[in-house]
Amino acid sequence: MTSTRGPLLYEGKAKRIYASNKEVEVLVEFKNDATAFNAQKRAQLEDKGRLNCQISACLFELLEREGIPTHYCGLESDHWMVVQRVEVIPIEVVLRNVATGSLCRQTPISQGTPLDPALLDLYYKDDDLGDPLLTESRLFLLDLVSPESRQEIETLARRVNAVLTPFFSGLNLQLVDFKLELGRNAAGELLVADEISPDTCRLWDMNSRDEKERILDKDRFRQDLGGVIEAYGEVCKRVQGATPKPRNYR
Ligand code: UDP
Repeated sequence: MTSTRGPLLYEGKAKRIYASNKEVEVLVEFKNDATAFNAQKRAQLEDKGRLNCQISACLFELLEREGIPTHYCGLESDHWMVVQRVEVIPIEVVLRNVATGSLCRQTPISQGTPLDPALLDLYYKDDDLGDPLLTESRLFLLDLVSPESRQEIETLARRVNAVLTPFFSGLNLQLVDFKLELGRNAAGELLVADEISPDTCRLWDMNSRDEKERILDKDRFRQDLGGVIEAYGEVCKRVQGATPKPRNYR
């Protein structure tokens, strides 16, 4: 039995979430909307929704095979996914293997510096506040998570990095940094939620030495480099070439 679409529950910048016929599951529609700089820059990119949905499905299934719990249940169609309903933890978890982006704007660390072990940064998920970087004390002051959950979040995020970094490297893609959103299902289990795609990961083509040409992620949109969909398509092609076809939701 396929999932029936219920009412719209939430519309975000890149996805819409609908109720399904099961209380514990929701349907996610991946949109073609591209936004950056807290939605001050916007565009419609034909096929982005499908590409991010397909890439995320392959990566969620990869994580699942490695024993990492995710909210993913299966694909409903080319740009629709069925996922477990979770209570999202209002924290953006960023792991950085190479210094770039906000880390280099906010600190004297030079672009391209390898970070080993990966640097974990937590941000408060609040668009009105511009997703501010959290200190450990602010994390607990705001009562966002318990100390045990804080540790569980870091362990899970590092496990994801330990699977994704060598996987992408095998596709000649360097996983520079990425953002995860985590949530808890009805049973209280911590799961990787949201999406894992070129919208949320920085991926550099290891076949290219050119600093701009090698970018295969949302930085092409942020920096007006053009070829955004071509880059996402290239990531999708390489990921699909190395993973089984994602399952359909049944
Ligand atoms: N990121 C994201 N959503 C956000 C902020 C960041 O998916 O709201 C991702 C971003 O694509 C990159 C990583 O998190 O892969 C680190 O981003 P950074 O803090 O360097 O932010 P930026 O330079 O984009 O402002």
